[in-house]
Amino acid sequence: ALMITDECINCDVCEPECPNGAIYQGEEIYQIDPNKCTECVGHFDEPQCQQVCPVDCIPLDPDRVESKEQLMEKFLKLTNQE
Ligand code: SF4
Ligand code: SF4
Repeated sequence: ALMITDECINCDVCEPECPNGAIYQGEEIYQIDPNKCTECVGHFDEPQCQQVCPVDCIPLDPDRVESKEQLMEKFLKLTNQE
C-alpha cells in the first residue's frame, strides 16, 4: 500500500482518482486505507494518486510492503472476484 506523508497540502486532487475509494480526508491531512489500496494493481499500470499529487507526498508505506501477487489478491477480494 501507499501512504500520504505530512507534506500533504489537502488539495483533494488524489481522492477522486482512486479506483478503490481508499483515499479519504483525515483529521489533518488526506489518508489512505491500506486495506483498500492495491497500488492500483488490477486497475491501472501506475498508482493514480502518485501521478496527480502536486507535492509528491505519496510514497510506498514501508510498513505495508506487498508483492504484486498480494496486491492482485486484494484487488480480487475488493471486487468480489474470488
Ligand atoms: Fe488508490 Fe491507487 Fe493511490 Fe492506492 S495507489 S491509494 S489504489 S489511487
Ligand atoms: Fe494531499 Fe497529494 Fe492528495 Fe493533494 S494530491 S490531497 S497533496 S496527497
